[in-house]
Amino acid sequence: MRNKHPGTCYRCNTRVEVGHGHFERHAGGWRVQHANCAIKARQIKQEQQNAQ
Ligand SMILES: [Zn+2]
Repeated sequence: MRNKHPGTCYRCNTRVEVGHGHFERHAGGWRVQHANCAIKARQIKQEQQNAQ
C-alpha cells in the first residue's frame, strides 16, 4: 500500500514523501519504507537464499 503520509524509512532512516514508499502494519503500529528500499531488501534476501 502506498503511503498517504510522509514518514521516515525504517531501512535507510531518511524521509519518505507521500506516495514514494509503502506502509506496513508492525508491532501494533505502522511503519514506512521507500519503494526502492523494499526492492533492494527483496533482492538481498533472494541473493542470500541463492547462496545457501
Ligand atoms: Zn529507504
